[in-house]
Amino acid sequence: MQRRQLPPWSEFQQLSPAEKVESWSQGEGRLWHCLHAKQFDRKFLDGLYELTNIIRSLSKARAGSLFLQSLLPHKRAMLYFMQPSTRTYLSFKTACEILGIRTSDVRDASTSSEVKGETFEDTIRTFSSYFEFIIMRHSGEGMAELAAHCLDTSDRSVPVLNAGSGKDQHPTQALLDVYTLRRSFESCGGLEGKTILFAGDLLRGRTVRSLARLLTLFPGVKIVFASPEKFRMKDDVLAILRASGTSYVETTDFLGHLKDADAIYMTRVQDEHDNKDGTKSEKSFPEFSLRAEHLDILKPHCAIMHPLPRRDELAVEIDNNPRAKYWRQERNGMWTRAALIAHISGVDREIFAYWSELCRQAHHTAETKR
Ligand code: ASP
Ligand code: ASP
Repeated sequence: MQRRQLPPWSEFQQLSPAEKVESWSQGEGRLWHCLHAKQFDRKFLDGLYELTNIIRSLSKARAGSLFLQSLLPHKRAMLYFMQPSTRTYLSFKTACEILGIRTSDVRDASTSSEVKGETFEDTIRTFSSYFEFIIMRHSGEGMAELAAHCLDTSDRSVPVLNAGSGKDQHPTQALLDVYTLRRSFESCGGLEGKTILFAGDLLRGRTVRSLARLLTLFPGVKIVFASPEKFRMKDDVLAILRASGTSYVETTDFLGHLKDADAIYMTRVQDEHDNKDGTKSEKSFPEFSLRAEHLDILKPHCAIMHPLPRRDELAVEIDNNPRAKYWRQERNGMWTRAALIAHISGVDREIFAYWSELCRQAHHTAETKR
């Protein structure tokens, strides 16, 4: 990617997400960086999920899996995780492996030269000297955007993928969440028109913020935000819902909304942000917990979701219920992230071509057997 003409960071960071998205794209609907849920429209999602399904199917057989691994063996990815992570880290790592990409990581600030006083910008430029992708998680809200800006104004921009930025965004979690919702509702009319109940710490839960935004792309979706008064969803997200005509309610009565929910998205208390942002919280909110005795109230197709890790807001007794989708979310994260990386790299074209050839051959074999 060529060096871009961008305003200096002090000006660029003031722009709205809508004003920034163009500079994060390669043009013609193809992402370069993946930083914010604002970058995804319905056409992008439909294409990405079709690719996700193909990657998932191909990975099941040796030949398909070796084909995928042959696509990007000449590329390397840095997993730069400055906050704890199990799933996002592992699913990005395995997503890279699916496509043959080799990975390295920096997961502990004390092993980075930042402790010697190196600036964040120099650290990022250093990564771009060795790697073709930077996948990063950071406690600072604009840091992934800053990394992208720093690279785009250098001679060697590589894609930056935001794997969680402070309390603000977790765009790839939203991708896997919508994928999981769509699969869950395949046999009951799709995601359109469904009621999604979010519960817990909505003030500081970045996954809910990114997902709520994506749900505006699905006509007729209704959202219920159930949280303690002091952990209500912030107004910036509510304003997006109002502007898109997505209907929502805010409530403190979680249990009262269980019976109408088509999906329930549980979240834990994000108490790692306590004090830093002036809030102080309990370790859990018992009145925003889902227990085995609630299962009888839920709709038969209700999808129970959680970005994980969980505490006691989601009872382990629910884990083997067919409506529990959180383990599938984990696995879907790997497939959707592999599709995202394939899209950014442009090898999606080869995957679609390989798949249509397989389908053509299968059709031909079926015809000749008739
Ligand atoms: N679900 C989060 C993640 O994917 C938290 C964790 O890692 O345990 O990173
Ligand atoms: N794993 C999600 C995140 O990284 C949710 C959580 O940590 O509670 O935001």
